[in-house]
Amino acid sequence: MNETAKRARATIDLAAVRSNVRALGDRAPRAELMAVVKSDGYGHGAVRCARAAREAGAGWLGTALPEEAFALRAAGDTGRLMCWLWTPGGPWRRAVEQDIDISVSGLWALREVTAAARECGRTARVQLKIDTGLGRNGCAPADWPELTAAARAAEAEGTLRVTGVWSHFACADEPGHPSIALQLTAFHEALAIAGRAGLRPEVRHIANTPALLTLPEAHFDLVRTGIGIYGISPSPDLGTSQELGLRPAMTLEAALASVKRVPGGHGVSYGHQYTTPRETTLALVPLGYADGIPRHASNGGPVLIAGAWRTVAGRIAMDQFVVDLGGDHAEPGDRAVLFGPGDGGEPTAEDWARVAGTIGYEIVTRIGTRVPRVHVDSATRSEAGGDRTLTGGTA
Ligand SMILES: *Cc1c(COP(=O)(O)O)cnc(C)c1O
Repeated sequence: MNETAKRARATIDLAAVRSNVRALGDRAPRAELMAVVKSDGYGHGAVRCARAAREAGAGWLGTALPEEAFALRAAGDTGRLMCWLWTPGGPWRRAVEQDIDISVSGLWALREVTAAARECGRTARVQLKIDTGLGRNGCAPADWPELTAAARAAEAEGTLRVTGVWSHFACADEPGHPSIALQLTAFHEALAIAGRAGLRPEVRHIANTPALLTLPEAHFDLVRTGIGIYGISPSPDLGTSQELGLRPAMTLEAALASVKRVPGGHGVSYGHQYTTPRETTLALVPLGYADGIPRHASNGGPVLIAGAWRTVAGRIAMDQFVVDLGGDHAEPGDRAVLFGPGDGGEPTAEDWARVAGTIGYEIVTRIGTRVPRVHVDSATRSEAGGDRTLTGGTA
């Protein structure tokens, strides 16, 4: 461990990522699986997790930003790779040259991607996105006939190939929500319109992790799974990760920076939001909101120290927080585990999400850059090799 890692580290078990990818793939047997590794693999390290996902059979990788997709290519990935968040003037040409599937939600983007393809003399791979009800990105249904017709014209001319038609759910994590059926109907209509325009996409897809887990009728040709591959449940409504057969990949831990006896009635941390009820031992954990520990978990975030589950005492500060050990003994340097798979008695990211009033996605994704990521492979009991290359999946 390097000097920084002695303060704190996030250990990522790549064997867990592989087993989650396999478990999720088994639940969508007729579809291909896209491992979504945006935002540095939800904080787990995009390149390493992408490679683990490829090893476990992910035919596709997905990112939000084109720059995130380029980083995977630079690390050696040669398989199918899609990115979906574009703005005018984006690096279209580079994406075309790197054989990245480019999402297009409107005519302006179609124009930019066709111009880039003409410029470099290549055929762009384009996936058209329809807004079936999420109300975020995606082509409005009223504009869909025009977008599909324009894409078909560009396809006939050889500048692009429409490889996919896709959409995204608003409430797949709330089973039975009325919007789900409405979005599926809208998606079928959009596919029919694309078909009448003459488009023959290789992949039609709408499912994220919660839809993969709960809606087989939404699997189509490809499922885009992010949070599940990191072993975290999308929502308590769907069960815990353990109930879903997923294993959390990240363990976040720190070394205690101080342990001291204080009298009863001692205020703790900014604002004195906690006061020791009696003489006790306070432990200092050197992680704070600058490291992504949510300040909303002040006076409640769970931590495993000296064999017992304890809670944050007082406010979480930028770099540190305090835990009341209730008189138990600990030494500076002892381990504090904020979250992990949960089978060693430690809390999980889902526990932190509940206390902070957020979702597991946010807990892991916001872990900051000051926390070194250490990749291990529990299947081989080794620190995973440090090379940054990535082999391609099925093209
Ligand atoms: C992030 C994202 C996903 C993955 O969602 P999960 O719930 O993490 O599986 C899928 N599709 C799109 C468009 C996304 O932005």
